[in-house]
Amino acid sequence: MSPNIVNIVYLIAAVLFIMGLKGLTHPRTAVRGNLMGSMGMLLAIVVTLLNKGLSFELIIAGFIVGGLAGVILAVKIEMTAMPQLVALFNGFGGGASILVAGAELLRLNSGGDPAGLQSLIAIVLSGIIGAVTFWGSLIAFGKLQGVVVPDQPVRYPGEQIVKVLLLGGSLVMGVMIIMDPSRIDLYWGVVAIASVLGILLVIAIGGADMPVVVALLNSYSGLAAAATGFVLSPPNTVLIVAGSLVGASGLILTNIMCKAMNRSLANVLFGGFGEVQESASADDVYGGKVKATSPEELAMLFDTASRVVIVPGYGMAVAQAQHAVRDLYNLLESRDVTVEFAVHPVAGRMPGHMNVLLAEADIPYDRLIEMDDINPTMKQVDIAIVLGANDVVNPVARTDPKSPIAGMPIIDVDKAQTVIVIKRSLSPGFAGIPNPLFAADNSLMLFGDGKKMIQETVTSLKED
Ligand code: NDP
Repeated sequence: MSPNIVNIVYLIAAVLFIMGLKGLTHPRTAVRGNLMGSMGMLLAIVVTLLNKGLSFELIIAGFIVGGLAGVILAVKIEMTAMPQLVALFNGFGGGASILVAGAELLRLNSGGDPAGLQSLIAIVLSGIIGAVTFWGSLIAFGKLQGVVVPDQPVRYPGEQIVKVLLLGGSLVMGVMIIMDPSRIDLYWGVVAIASVLGILLVIAIGGADMPVVVALLNSYSGLAAAATGFVLSPPNTVLIVAGSLVGASGLILTNIMCKAMNRSLANVLFGGFGEVQESASADDVYGGKVKATSPEELAMLFDTASRVVIVPGYGMAVAQAQHAVRDLYNLLESRDVTVEFAVHPVAGRMPGHMNVLLAEADIPYDRLIEMDDINPTMKQVDIAIVLGANDVVNPVARTDPKSPIAGMPIIDVDKAQTVIVIKRSLSPGFAGIPNPLFAADNSLMLFGDGKKMIQETVTSLKED
């Protein structure tokens, strides 16, 4: 195939990737964006394989096997298990980079083109970043899935020094490969050391904190792919472009999540992230002050409400309550009650978690209001329903500088006239701390599974 045609198709694929990413920035265009990105990838893969002279049979067989695996995973995976799946996908990307770079080194040594400095540097970087990504992602998967690796951070004396030594060791061996490319054994040595580094980096972080780490590993997998693009001769431009886009967007996402949690990236990677911190005891916060309510009482409260704000959180995802919420929304709107959804940027366990669930339940996008826009109007809200959210509405973030969520912006539900908190118990959320909102004068707890409580409220409303 003529190199010009290949390059033009690569250019089209790159444009599709960028338009795809743009589409993914809004729920309304997200599906189209996803399709565009996939189309770009399909074009890039098919042209690359045709250009390398592979037979159609092989291309179609690969397409069917890969496509089938993708479809089965996409259909079977629970929405709450999405971070694990993303972790695995990142790991596959890192693993592929290790293998491609290793294969290229073998090819160069078996009488291929003379090894250029650029491709040797790229081979070493692909091996190091790929191995850190592969093993780091597998550990992240294990922690999120609750298998093999402990959920708690694994800490030991001198851990940062060990990691610096491992990084230094892999770089030194990398330089030795660049000086003597025939040392294929050293390449696998680099991969082995970087693999240990990947394991140690991620094992030190608590299981519930993995989503931030997954975003970072996603960025690493992009960097590994971009490096692999330089490994190939001639360099593969579409791999370099796609890898750079993944690397940059992963880093931007990591940054957004850190900001929304009021943490620095260094604190995520090396600080006491996920460790239990000092906080007031649950007894002090709740002792005798918590008032419970029932779905029937909540239905009665709606009789006098004209503006209701629902704040969804991780518990809505666990309960899969979004469709029941849509029923409640329809019913209230039919009674001239204005219903809005206040979405916190880190509600749930992955970016956009709540937006995806609410979109799945056909809640109109214009009813999803961002935290900064809804907070100034909270005093005019008659009823705020906190559905399976905890940390993102915890006023301690504003009041206790020692709290693990100190400084994290929250949705100010405590300023609403009445707050109804739907959750199963007084258990803490992700940050592991009590929430004084549950004991506030204007709060009522509706204890139970999120979906069941909303369904029972809808039934009571209909019986009214
Ligand atoms: P939280 O984790 O703070 O709280 C979730 C609450 O849901 C729990 O207190 C739990 O209480 C309740 N719950 C669980 N299952 C159910 C159920 N079936 N029905 C009703 N309630 C249920 O969630 P938030 O969304 O408020 O906050 C997200 C947290 O996750 C933040 O601390 C954020 O920093 C962190 N995080 C978010 C990431 C993201 O990308 N979104 C990434 C990494 C971390 P109970 O057991 O009593 O029912």
